Amino acid sequence: MDFKKILDLLMFREGTNDENDLKEPVITTGSIVWGLLIRSAILIVLSFLLIDFIDRREYWWFSLFLIWFFAAYPAYRQYTFYNQKIEEFKESTLCGSCKHFDQTGRLCRIYDEHVSKDYIPCEGDSWEPNSYEIGQ
Ligand code: SF4
Repeated sequence: MDFKKILDLLMFREGTNDENDLKEPVITTGSIVWGLLIRSAILIVLSFLLIDFIDRREYWWFSLFLIWFFAAYPAYRQYTFYNQKIEEFKESTLCGSCKHFDQTGRLCRIYDEHVSKDYIPCEGDSWEPNSYEIGQ
């Protein structure tokens, strides 16, 4: 994992409006979970060091607020943004309506590659409707 990828996880980069055009998505469900875990771990260590430094152990609960404001809430915001982008992607692409599409990572399960508006690994040959569409 390179340094830029770690920074992306840590900074909860929200991506841009052309997120769906990128071949390699900046945001995935996995990156959000990783970002949440890394941020929480850093905040817990920092808050306990601070509490220990000022010698106020009764304020341990303060770290919960830090985790909410600087880890959980930003993760929730990014997850909302990600869901919005993936819904747009599903409506506007062939892969989005395919049963082999994995929306948690904007991935094709058969080819194990990220798909984008301009990149369809199978070029339509392996497309199959997802079960939701069959049922309608
Ligand atoms: S099988 Fe083809 S259409 Fe379906 S998700 Fe994979 S690349 Fe896209």
